[in-house]
Amino acid sequence: MDPIERLSSLFEKFPGIGPRQAQRFVQFLLRNSTSGRRKLIDALENLGGAVHQCPECMRFHAGNKKICNMCTNSERNDSQLAVVASDADLGALERSGTYRGRYFVLGGTISLASEKMSGLRIKELNMRINDLRNRYEKFGEVILAFPANPEGDATEIRLREELEQGFPLLKVTSLGRGLSTGSELEYADPETIKSALEGRR
Ligand SMILES: [Zn+2]
Repeated sequence: MDPIERLSSLFEKFPGIGPRQAQRFVQFLLRNSTSGRRKLIDALENLGGAVHQCPECMRFHAGNKKICNMCTNSERNDSQLAVVASDADLGALERSGTYRGRYFVLGGTISLASEKMSGLRIKELNMRINDLRNRYEKFGEVILAFPANPEGDATEIRLREELEQGFPLLKVTSLGRGLSTGSELEYADPETIKSALEGRR
């Protein structure tokens, strides 16, 4: 395959990137200096070695330790666990500065076409909740923090059912609709996230 087409087809696999944007990325790189492209190659190469997945919250982090610095931080509130769809949503919640509890990254939302939860870290979530219950006496709330779109809503409903069945004593809440419909948590501003957290039910 032609190198330009090859690179373009790789960019097309990125979330939210179509053929036209993919071609613009390639054109940008072609105009870039060799050293500029080198930086990108180095960054990509280092991604494999330095970044790993935390076995507790499941997010990707760069660090020497296996468990990430958020999970090892003893200053965090051990009574709450926020379940988010992606690492990006975790970042948004964290940047809002309102939430200080623990996290779990589910790895996506239910696809409405299949209604299946396969591919989501359900088993790992159950293990995480059990672990928190065993470790911290005050642990008692799971906050479902999914994007305000149909997939996010469907995931919330299914997961709420699962958790209420599996952990009857646990309080399960979800974000209040301070988030406007269709908005991605990832792009929401801190004030909106704050009011969605305060309005959780
Ligand atoms: Zn972690």
